Amino acid sequence: MRLCLPALNVKPVTPASTPSEDSLPEASPSVLLVDDDETNLMLTAMALRGRGFSVTSFSTGRAALGYLRSKVPDIVVLDAQMPDLDGFVTCQRLRTLPALEHVPVLMLTGLDDDESINRAYRAGATDFFVKTPQWSLLEGRLRYLLRASRTQQELLRSRARLARALDLARMGSFDWHPVPGRWEGRLELSAEAYLVIGLVPGIAIGLRRLIRMVPRTDRHALLSMLGTFNTHRSVLATDVAIELPDGRRRVIHLEAEPDSPGPGGSGSYTGVVQDVTDRRTAEDKIRHLANFDSLTGLPNRRQLLWRTERALEYARRQGHLCGLLLIDLDRFKVINDTLGHAAGDELLAEVAKRLRLCVRHSEQVTEAAAEAGSNRTHRTLEAVGRLGGDEFVALLPEVANEQDAERVASRILDSMKAPIYVAGQECIVTASVGVALYPRDGLNMLDLIRNADVAMYSAKASGRNATAVYAPSLATSGRERLAIETALYKALERQELVLHYQPKVDVQQGCVVGAEALMRWKRAGRLVPPGDFIPLAEEIGLILPMSQWALGEAARQLRVWRDRFGFSHSVAVNLPSRLFERADLVDHVRLSALACGVPLDSIQLEITETGLMRGHQGAFPALQRLHDIGVRISIDDFGTGYSSLSYLTTLPIAELKIDGSFVRDLGRTPQSEAVVTAIIALARSLGLGVVAEGVETERQAQVLHTLGCHVMQGYLFSRPLPAEDFERWVLRARIQPSAPWILMAEEPL
Ligand code: C2E
Ligand code: CA
Ligand code: CA
Repeated sequence: MRLCLPALNVKPVTPASTPSEDSLPEASPSVLLVDDDETNLMLTAMALRGRGFSVTSFSTGRAALGYLRSKVPDIVVLDAQMPDLDGFVTCQRLRTLPALEHVPVLMLTGLDDDESINRAYRAGATDFFVKTPQWSLLEGRLRYLLRASRTQQELLRSRARLARALDLARMGSFDWHPVPGRWEGRLELSAEAYLVIGLVPGIAIGLRRLIRMVPRTDRHALLSMLGTFNTHRSVLATDVAIELPDGRRRVIHLEAEPDSPGPGGSGSYTGVVQDVTDRRTAEDKIRHLANFDSLTGLPNRRQLLWRTERALEYARRQGHLCGLLLIDLDRFKVINDTLGHAAGDELLAEVAKRLRLCVRHSEQVTEAAAEAGSNRTHRTLEAVGRLGGDEFVALLPEVANEQDAERVASRILDSMKAPIYVAGQECIVTASVGVALYPRDGLNMLDLIRNADVAMYSAKASGRNATAVYAPSLATSGRERLAIETALYKALERQELVLHYQPKVDVQQGCVVGAEALMRWKRAGRLVPPGDFIPLAEEIGLILPMSQWALGEAARQLRVWRDRFGFSHSVAVNLPSRLFERADLVDHVRLSALACGVPLDSIQLEITETGLMRGHQGAFPALQRLHDIGVRISIDDFGTGYSSLSYLTTLPIAELKIDGSFVRDLGRTPQSEAVVTAIIALARSLGLGVVAEGVETERQAQVLHTLGCHVMQGYLFSRPLPAEDFERWVLRARIQPSAPWILMAEEPL
């Protein structure tokens, strides 16, 4: 009779198809013992327990297998000869159970039973042992097997870890056995390497197949590299672009080293392949960020420097000229301040797009291409880049002469002509371009940029929207401008700005009807006229605080005059058109008047006709609100811009000021008289006041008077005067009614 002994000291199954720490034998290793000979089973179990093992025993293979479905012992001891399921079949079946693949199995056989020994191994046994009552021998064997199993499991674990690491690193290994001196030869890839190149592991693959995965354009270079590598048995490390069978493109890093030479000098190589696509993409992205401006996509300062240095190197070697154009947008700050930064950015992006079309702009120049040194390579350096802000540079790596560079510059100015639409507005953008040539105007990028900058400033000084080529004589004027710019910043806080006042007279009434405030800058004992600093102030943004100051100062002066001699007329302040586009202008005007206690209708604002039209409708709401609070608006330099009649009829304007240029030509050219007549008629029909400015002669005054314009300003009456002089002048005019212009009032029309 066979007894099924109860199962004792069992451990729960660990999910150990990959071996885990838990499956390591402990101090008391668990043994599953299977023997149909009950006595033997009992004796062996007892002996092993006595030697520190925890034993579970079964007398049939079937019972043991049932147990093994839920438990995994550290080691299994099987009697080979058993009825029903013998040890071999039991062993074969247990190997198919989960987690039992690697558990050591010791098969107990009879003495000298060679056939059994072979069958035991075939069935998956780890070792065999001849049945013996010498328990210490059995113990020794079991402990040896357990140790070996532990070592094997550690090996498996570390191999699994390695596989995981390789998988994470998208890395695989290979061995290459080339035919000496050639690139053909046997290739063995690890399973991971197959995955890296997108092929199914295990299929036979030759180097030819791999090389066909490389784009045609790169193949030749790769083959010759492999050839040299094989001939010189050197170390190989390179990136290769390949196209996977599914069409994806990857970049593979290939690294290989020669093994020690085999018989006959032939050598093989061991190496790794790694998918570095993501890393290279990231590196490319970083390189792009470091070298290109993110707003416009153009090369940035750093990239320009690199390109210029290369271009200068070529020019030095080949003895040709190199051109550097500095392009600066005119009055970009105005646009940025009035329309906002987002619109400014949009505008810069559009400008960049246009500039790019003006040269043979090459987006990418690789180090390799630049170094390749073919005669035409330097041409690929040609590009437009952004230095920062609204400053751009065009690099012309080879120009024949100065005119060549100027041609590109005028192409650039032309490209700006079409209006740019940003923030729902049409903007006309112009640029000033400075040209410097290598080697004449500088031997390195910094000198060239500096001198192109000097030339650019002189283009701005000559009225903008122009090109200037560097000449040493320009350098002084550039420095001067820089000095003015710095001094102007300080002028406000140092209270160097003053207002002079020019009377407005009504020749028909024979009296003063107002004054125009005109700014001057007391700089180092000199009085600088506004024409020399107002455009600069507009460009650098200082015009806003300066205008605010003028408003406050005019209001203050008005208060003084009102108190001292009952001056009850208005003072006109000149404001740049863009100030009218600011939401806070109305408040500012109101507060200035309020602070000095002068009525709002004693403040008049002058906006030039061109300024009004340039800003389109941006200024309209402010004009309306100013009108609503009683401030009078005058359109300055009228006749020089292109007012549309519809604007004039709808805008709340009080007065048109006939530009001085028409007044100057009165009596000299019939056109000027026609223009003046038309303006006067227009003003009259629209119910607007009309003022003539720049009246210098009695003849001019007479003609204007005859044509129906009675309010005038000009040297004929008075130059713009400091406040005290203006006061004196007004008082004298009152008590001295014999001035020629007052006499005019008595003449019949
Ligand atoms: P504007 O507003 O047209 O001022 C008239 C200019 O003509 C003044 O030049 C004035 O001195 C000058 N003028 C007056 N009568 C005569 C004359 O009979 N003959 C001649 N040839 N010229 C005469 P100024 O003071 O040099 O100002 C030049 C321009 O600067 C002004 O032209 C105005 O556009 C601007 N400006 C002056 N002050 C300010 C200011 O406070 N703010 C702003 N934004 N611009 C100002
Ligand atoms: Ca004016
Ligand atoms: Ca004017």
